[in-house]
Amino acid sequence: MMFDGNNHTSIEELGEFGLINHLTQFVEHYQPTTIKGIGDDAAVIDHKNEHTVITTDLLIEGVHFDLAYVPLKHLGYKAVMVNLSDVYAMNAEAKQITVSIAISNRFPLEAIEELYAGILLACKTYQVDLVGGDTTSSTTGLIISVTALGTAKKETIVTRDGAKPNDLLVVTGDIGGAYMGLQVLEREKEVFKVNPNSQPDLEPYSYIVERQLKPEARKDIPKLLEALDVLPTSMIDISDGLSSETIHLCKNSKVGVNLFEEKIPLDPTVINVCEEFQLDSTTVALSGGEDYELLFTIAQNDYDKIKGNPNFTVIGHMTEEKEGMHLITRANQKVALKARGWNSFEEKEEKND
Ligand code: ADP
Ligand code: MG
Repeated sequence: MMFDGNNHTSIEELGEFGLINHLTQFVEHYQPTTIKGIGDDAAVIDHKNEHTVITTDLLIEGVHFDLAYVPLKHLGYKAVMVNLSDVYAMNAEAKQITVSIAISNRFPLEAIEELYAGILLACKTYQVDLVGGDTTSSTTGLIISVTALGTAKKETIVTRDGAKPNDLLVVTGDIGGAYMGLQVLEREKEVFKVNPNSQPDLEPYSYIVERQLKPEARKDIPKLLEALDVLPTSMIDISDGLSSETIHLCKNSKVGVNLFEEKIPLDPTVINVCEEFQLDSTTVALSGGEDYELLFTIAQNDYDKIKGNPNFTVIGHMTEEKEGMHLITRANQKVALKARGWNSFEEKEEKND
């Protein structure tokens, strides 16, 4: 495992309350809406007149993460990011989180400290308060569950079901990086198994490895949209891959889509590493996942407001439901959009979400 140092303090010695106190001793509050945080039977939050959005995610060792190449600090950070991303996808502002962990006795205190260092860094960076959680033992692996709370004005919450035919489909940032970062990390893990003395040179891959290990949720986007006076008609975050998220928007909104292959925003590193791995970059973008960018639809009338903004790429438009969901390829062919890409991923196992 990747927590460093030679100190292995047993958690048993500390006891459950000792552990909770130890892990939460540096917790700070950034939000005035947090009335009472850790230390009572429940936290108290005053969200005034705003609506509250709540979301939760469960991460299980061996299913969602592999500690052979994910440092615990990054894991803690990412566990918070995946939840904040869901809050931002509602066009809301994240305010508080709770964190529950189940730990087996193979983890010393120092390992869990690393995990919490990542969690607290995420809290500080995103100005959210850790207000509670639960701590228990597990017979085998590590389990982490994070719940995030956010707020939004009732009129500006954006759900998945408001897209209309002719709306534009827009994505933030670039996609496919997190998936290719995972490919690189898995390759290095195999190399390491054969030759434990090998030192991987991940420098050329730093952008995509970072996209995988230290994703950043798009806290800036709800604010930016507000500043541009754009209220999306529907929105979702990209945790599974562009095609599956596009399909979610279509099915929830009862519309179809034409998504243009040539418009999909890819970082040059993604294009290069796809060549190296002999993977099709469109397939990777459509099916890769874990980019935590936002995907949303806007009315055509709002196009001028986002035009030229480097954060946004228009990748398609919505159609009548009966027209179906399609990818328009570079060769101008119309291919049915499938949840898991449209060719080489077909034999692959379903991912666990
Ligand atoms: P209870 O007996 O009411 O479940 P606990 O003893 O489990 O309370 O927790 C005591 C306090 O510490 C509570 O405020 C709880 O929310 C908080 N807490 C427990 N575990 C964690 C954790 N892993 N991270 C953050 N806060 C925690
Ligand atoms: Mg408890």
